[in-house]
Amino acid sequence: MKEQTEDLFLPVTSLKGVGAKTAESLASLGINSVYDLLFYFPFRYDDLETLPLDQIMDGQKVLLKGIVTTEPFVSHFGYRKSRLSFKMRIDHEVIMVNFFNQAWLKKSIETGAEIAIYGKYNVVRQSLSGYKVVAQKEEDKDLMPIYSVNKHIKQKKLQSLIDLAIGADLTLIKDTVPLELRRKYRLMTDQEIITNLHHPQDSNSAKLARRSAIFREFFLFQVQLAQIVNQRDSHLQGISKKYDLEAVKDLITSLPFELSQDQKKVVNEIYADMHEPIQMHRLLQGDVGSGKTVVAVFAIYAAITAGFQATLMVPTEILAQQHFNKIDSILRPLGVRVALLTGTTKELEKQEIYRELKDGTINVVVGTHALIQPKVEFKDLGLVIIDEQHRFGVNQRSELVAKGDNPDILAMTATPIPRTLALTVYGDMAVSEIHTLPNGRKPIESQWVTSNHLDRVLIKMRQQLEAGFQIYVVTPLISESEKSDLKNAEDLHKKIAEYFSDYNVALLHGQMKGDDKNDIMSEFVQGNINILVTTSVIEVGVDVPNANMMIIFNAERFGLSQLHQLRGRIGRGQTASYCFFVSDPKNEEAKRRMEIISTTSDGFELAQEDLKLRGEGDVFGKAQSGLPQFKTGDVVTNYNTLVVAKKEARNLINDDPNLEKEENHFLKKVIQYTNKLQND
Ligand code: ADP
Ligand code: MG
Repeated sequence: MKEQTEDLFLPVTSLKGVGAKTAESLASLGINSVYDLLFYFPFRYDDLETLPLDQIMDGQKVLLKGIVTTEPFVSHFGYRKSRLSFKMRIDHEVIMVNFFNQAWLKKSIETGAEIAIYGKYNVVRQSLSGYKVVAQKEEDKDLMPIYSVNKHIKQKKLQSLIDLAIGADLTLIKDTVPLELRRKYRLMTDQEIITNLHHPQDSNSAKLARRSAIFREFFLFQVQLAQIVNQRDSHLQGISKKYDLEAVKDLITSLPFELSQDQKKVVNEIYADMHEPIQMHRLLQGDVGSGKTVVAVFAIYAAITAGFQATLMVPTEILAQQHFNKIDSILRPLGVRVALLTGTTKELEKQEIYRELKDGTINVVVGTHALIQPKVEFKDLGLVIIDEQHRFGVNQRSELVAKGDNPDILAMTATPIPRTLALTVYGDMAVSEIHTLPNGRKPIESQWVTSNHLDRVLIKMRQQLEAGFQIYVVTPLISESEKSDLKNAEDLHKKIAEYFSDYNVALLHGQMKGDDKNDIMSEFVQGNINILVTTSVIEVGVDVPNANMMIIFNAERFGLSQLHQLRGRIGRGQTASYCFFVSDPKNEEAKRRMEIISTTSDGFELAQEDLKLRGEGDVFGKAQSGLPQFKTGDVVTNYNTLVVAKKEARNLINDDPNLEKEENHFLKKVIQYTNKLQND
């Protein structure tokens, strides 16, 4: 018999009869350990009540019980398709039952036997399209759990694996939420949550279990956050940066433009923080193109004149390259050494950067995750800036910060974060906002066109090209691994290159090598490429003011926030700019999105709309790990729970900062496990 809590966190293959292949299928759902399996909850339940035939609506999913009256018959059609059919008598009526591609069921269906089948009912044909034969055991229950699955694993299989885990390891589950809190808020224990969500007795207990699971999930997250804050506050003193105001004035005069009102305000806020002998924790929020990078340059330069080093971490190679170019071009003339460090930096060069960071020769390093490597050491890191910070995990951030002696921290984001979310995730940061666009900026003219009006777009494209401007053509690539999507981009590139054969048309996509991407980007920046056909890799922060037109194909396949981010690549110069959303939306929701994006340019408003239409998980994208992806809870609808969980988590950590008390032992284990996941 197993006794060790650690066993819970073992790979699913530790379960009897689970092999590598099943483990692989489960991994595609994000399930790696026994623990993950137990906490993979159904997203809804289907009611397994049987209804009289005349009360069933067309297309309704129901459980029907009856007697098999004809021998099941299998017919084959199409390519490897089959239909298993038989008649079933329910009271005095006879209906037809069909199972598609489940010919193997034949042996379990006996003429004359009573059977219960769950499926979709067609009133006109009086037929049931069967989903599954319900075993006696399940039939007794009212609710059938429905899990989110994919092509690698079926409902039934997943369900049986979860049951296997429950049978083997449930007793290893202790309590995450302390007893006192469970009493106070009337919450179930972890074991109760698991049994009641996977096998609810009735809808009431399922509801209670879900409520408890939501609290538990928020609580776990908030405890982690509270621990980070706690560690931070215990050595909050930062170092006062005595920056050189005269030097900063030189920076101001060296810029080709004047800072906007909001930029000035924000720079002042940052400088005030840096001057205080307290570690700065500031979030700079500003729509795409609002000029955050320049603000970052002011922060960096101040830190350097005060005798410190600075670093800027960004989520992608392209961005790193681009920020490096910009910062280098502004600061190098002022005598600052700027370096670029990414995954594709050559080994020799890396060694040199490591050395010069350590001895202080390099003043500021711009880079990607490569900055987190243990080999990266600073002489005196005084300022850490993280761009698009929601794309990084909490731990990645703190690892970079740990390379300095309580350095000041500035996070920047262009994703307008709805206030509800900002309150929770960034609750511990001071917030600076840039609302005004830089002076002289003209709003982008946005238009939604259906594909039969493409000629209009093509005419406009030619006009713009003739006037010497550059163009982005964006095609959706929902998952970088989808071959068909990549082919779309390639086909589109070919067509456009043929149509505009007198211009230089290039293709950029996520599957290209880092070097190739950088080459294409720098050719585009230099104006040697006229049209850049690209996937959403172009999304964040790319800055080419001469590119003032964008055409987004199949725009309905993007979310509002993403469309807004994409559009933000243009409208960066002093000239008028144009964005065309090419789309033939197939449903109302998609149509609505096209209407909103083509008439609204305010990122904050769009984020709210997006949140309404899709829920928070999708707005920020699954990959953006810095924002917690809550599985059970929803930060909008369960906001109050989130607030309570936060308060209680704080109390707990104040009371037991390192979770050393016996009763918090399991909580600590779970946190260690989830932390580890984030770091991988
Ligand atoms: P963000 O990072 O917020 O998306 P950037 O810092 O990249 O925006 O700025 C977008 C563009 O606007 C850049 O080309 C930048 O040089 C320019 N810019 C920034 N501030 C100003 C300003 N005050 N006046 C004119 N142009 C500006
Ligand atoms: Mg930026």
